[in-house]
Amino acid sequence: MSETKYIFVTGGVTSSLGKGIISASLAKLLQARGYNVTIQKLDPYINIDPGTLNPYEHGECYVTEDGAETDLDLGHYERFLNKPTSQANNVTTGRVYQSVINKERKGDYLGKTVQVIPHITDEIKRRIKFLGSKFNYDMVITEIGGTVGDIESLPYIEAVRQLRWQLGHQNSVVIHLTLVPYLSASGELKTKPTQHSVKQLLENGVQPDILVLRTEKELGHEIRRKVGQFCNVSIDSVIQSIDVSTIYEVPLKMLEEKLDLVVLRKLNLEVKEEANLEPWKDFLNKVKNYQKSIRIGLVGKYTELPDAYKSITEAFIHSGAMNNCKVNVEMIHSECLEKQAPAEKLKGLHGILVAPGFGHRGIKGKIEAVKYARENNIPFLGICLGMQMAVIEFGLNVLKLEGAHSTEMYRNTPHPVIDIMEEQKEITDKGGTMRLGAYKCKLLKMSNIYKAYGKTEISERHRHRYEFNNKYLEMYEAAGMKATGINPDTGLVEIIELPDLKWFVGVQFHPEYKSTVLNPHPIFSSFVQAAILESENLTSTEL
Ligand code: GLN
Repeated sequence: MSETKYIFVTGGVTSSLGKGIISASLAKLLQARGYNVTIQKLDPYINIDPGTLNPYEHGECYVTEDGAETDLDLGHYERFLNKPTSQANNVTTGRVYQSVINKERKGDYLGKTVQVIPHITDEIKRRIKFLGSKFNYDMVITEIGGTVGDIESLPYIEAVRQLRWQLGHQNSVVIHLTLVPYLSASGELKTKPTQHSVKQLLENGVQPDILVLRTEKELGHEIRRKVGQFCNVSIDSVIQSIDVSTIYEVPLKMLEEKLDLVVLRKLNLEVKEEANLEPWKDFLNKVKNYQKSIRIGLVGKYTELPDAYKSITEAFIHSGAMNNCKVNVEMIHSECLEKQAPAEKLKGLHGILVAPGFGHRGIKGKIEAVKYARENNIPFLGICLGMQMAVIEFGLNVLKLEGAHSTEMYRNTPHPVIDIMEEQKEITDKGGTMRLGAYKCKLLKMSNIYKAYGKTEISERHRHRYEFNNKYLEMYEAAGMKATGINPDTGLVEIIELPDLKWFVGVQFHPEYKSTVLNPHPIFSSFVQAAILESENLTSTEL
């Protein structure tokens, strides 16, 4: 197929209806029918990227292979499609304005007044079309963040209106996702919010082709007919999206509703093949019929907002299913471990994960969690800051290096066992300046990490400024903490292990970003297996 087709997904009534999951599910179905699809997210905020946002504001910051700090929806896209995304898959208002302003300074618009229409909308359109043409996709699904009616979404909706006019209706489709609330007092499903939201879109010149209605109760024919009639959408294009127990069920629900077939018909594309979703169904079957369960403690400081650790919790679902095991992730606020005896919170867990993070808050608690895992030989995984905490804990409690710390939290520590990377020393800007994206790592054969991957060369994604200080390496290795993964180009320690323990691994990179439904991450799988053994041990000693 020569021309890329464009699918736009907008949202109405309220945020958090799951546009990202609907987009990812539709993409999955189209992919299963043999099409080459990608998904793009347009975020209407003025930050250049979410890299500088507090996770409480926006959930996890997801990092792509090419080192883009992006919205967490890109994580869903990769987990569903099993294909990497890139910087071009996430556009923010900040990025759009930045390019327009840079062009203005270069003189590209010389003589002209630079305006939202046409200059900002042209730049939005360029970024949408660029993704399709550069990578030769059959279809690009563009999800527009926010809710229709928000002031900041207006230029995006206008760009969609213009693009539809340019591309023609056979080459583009607009899907609008709304909510049909159920009023329990009157026992009724209400369509008015949907009607209003479509009206708002129409005021902006965009007629949706397909409506996806989020609902907690089955929508009967009458409701669909009513919505269709008042929103000028044919009844077979009014799609129900009912609440389900796991997001991974949504593609199958959308298949039942024929969302993919409606899209293909509107785009005048053939139904190439039966959607092959067998591996997906196998996975879902496992998720719904676990044979055992384990408890993993996730120690972090943003635990009130589970979205802050989205990729980690999803990676546990993938690796859990692979091992027929439900992984119950218990969120443990690291500050709690500073106020009460760690054993009170950590006893009985089958694995402890110390999460990534920045800054001073909750650090002592993270060190306590590592200490507890090490002293009690509980399977342990430290990710990024979690790995750094494992190094500090070992320095303090095993090597007895008084005051050992990271220079991130304790600038003048007498023992900077974690120190700022050389190339980071001169950097003062905070945005997009960390060591970001995929780097190679060489694994030592005699290690749990090698057992997990089954190969010696790996590549993983990073997001950090500090690193293990190699001046201490000899001392650490002599005392039993081994560097089992090293960057072959820089000598940077990427993985540490305590081989004397059952399973104690710290990684400077973020394995969670690369875990997908069809390719659970080997580190998570290996950690889950170690935790399953731990749970079996615990049960047999209890007997
Ligand atoms: N704050 C640490 C660093 O910058 C760890 C970062 C992280 O956990 N992503 O090195």
